Amino acid sequence: MSEKTKFIFITGGVVSSLGKGLASASLASILQSRGFKVRMRKLDPYLNVDPGTMSPYQHGEVYVTDDGAETDLDLGHYERFSGVACHKTDSITTGKIYQRVIDKERHGDYLGATIQVIPHVTNEIKDFILSDITDEDFVLCEIGGTVGDIEGQPYLEAIRQVAYDLGRERAMFIHVTLLPYIPTAGELKTKPTQHSVKKLQEYGIQPDMLLCRAQTEIPQNEKRKIALFCNIREENVIAALDCDSIYQVPISYSHEGIDLQVCKHFGIDCRQEADLSKWERIMDVIRHPEGIVRIAVVGKYVQLLEAYKSINEALTHGGIANKYKVKIKWIDSERLEHEDVNELLSDVSAILVPGGFGQRGTDGKIAAVKYAREHKIPFLGICYGMQMSVIETMQNVVGIKNAYTTELRADCEPVVGLMTEWDREGSTERRNKDGDLGGTMRLGAYPCVLSENSLAAKVYGCNKIFERHRHRYEVNLKYEDVLKKAGMVVSGKSPDGLLPEIVEIPDHPWFIGVQFHPELKSKPFDPHPLFVSFVKAAIDKSRLL
Ligand code: GLN
Repeated sequence: MSEKTKFIFITGGVVSSLGKGLASASLASILQSRGFKVRMRKLDPYLNVDPGTMSPYQHGEVYVTDDGAETDLDLGHYERFSGVACHKTDSITTGKIYQRVIDKERHGDYLGATIQVIPHVTNEIKDFILSDITDEDFVLCEIGGTVGDIEGQPYLEAIRQVAYDLGRERAMFIHVTLLPYIPTAGELKTKPTQHSVKKLQEYGIQPDMLLCRAQTEIPQNEKRKIALFCNIREENVIAALDCDSIYQVPISYSHEGIDLQVCKHFGIDCRQEADLSKWERIMDVIRHPEGIVRIAVVGKYVQLLEAYKSINEALTHGGIANKYKVKIKWIDSERLEHEDVNELLSDVSAILVPGGFGQRGTDGKIAAVKYAREHKIPFLGICYGMQMSVIETMQNVVGIKNAYTTELRADCEPVVGLMTEWDREGSTERRNKDGDLGGTMRLGAYPCVLSENSLAAKVYGCNKIFERHRHRYEVNLKYEDVLKKAGMVVSGKSPDGLLPEIVEIPDHPWFIGVQFHPELKSKPFDPHPLFVSFVKAAIDKSRLL
């Protein structure tokens, strides 16, 4: 680690869901625009080893990195806003920390010591924070949860110690809080923020900056009051007002002077003017689109849109690239099992079936695929959605009614089956059906070779791609010829030719199923080609409707 690397710790107070992840990602992006190199990390105090086994209703989407870590969805914000790829070394949970501590204890590494939260657990957290850093100017570490949570205490102690060890000239504490608006008083209230800062001070942390989430402008005298009571410089009380789009956040934080104050805190030169023109261009398209296109997303977690965070984002990026607003019609796939499919889908210009697990809503997804195939509506199937598209062709075109996935039924025609062995960078990965659920899927980026003249090759503009995976089952290639006769071709495979990664229907305007998750790599400034092309196909379709 270079001596110049500085650490910014972001904590949250008052309530959860304040958008700390977005705030951290926005700050990173502004610092980048001033010429600094950044890295972003998330420390989650919950006890799961990773969010991989958590319900999307509990935790939202599981974000997968290139190197196969299953992480918090905030890492998605980090990658989308900064363009810097996150790694396994950028995400930790209490479960993982304890796993490491206990492994060391069993191994005898502590030489007979009594193992305690301080120093053993806190040291493990500190090691995580300081590991795998090269020449970054700033490392932004977000602490999950809210100050005062029991689980969060070792993290606060650890970051306090890091600041002590490195010196305050290399560490900064930013606390994100809420100023609730009380209509009867007609005022924003500062008391919860004051209490939250007091709580942090109890742990020995004096925040250097407050990011105050508020619905309305914060009057200067209120900022002064907060500054005085919280022991913070007035110019470091930053208003974080609600924005009409997340892409506006870096622009408004920069207007508030956050980057200047961060540089001032560290006593460093700001290098260059913050250039946020790329965000401004995006906001211009968002505010003045040339049109609106409606796309259905048919999934089973539609009550909690956080569960489809990256898909939502990737569709927006595809829209921005086409100067269109994408309006997503979220449809609970179970509804397609007992309601009129035509009625539910006739007002959309494209259909996306995302990833998923388990039986609920599966037949509704198959019904959505059938509708898209028969009505020549642009279709994108992702992971489970791709598997459903193959099952649909086998059931309804080939006529094997019992075609299904062994994930759900053992006695089916196993078009999709459990994958127990596959190649990873020259070595073989193995699983069995009774093994652990956590961390045992095919995870992370794998290469895929595209067939010449396929739609996929045209869309990507190349013949070899790397995409991120998260699945346990796989379409069985022994059905390739049967599928081909039925009009569906396998247009992307693993380099050894054993695993099908992409299917498409050539006699359809735009029908692609992918075994991987392209949405995870899409960025506002680097929209994913599949989403750009899919949204374009939807726009073309809408012109015909
Ligand atoms: N349930 C499927 C599998 O494990 C698909 C997973 C997904 O959509 N991410 O293969």
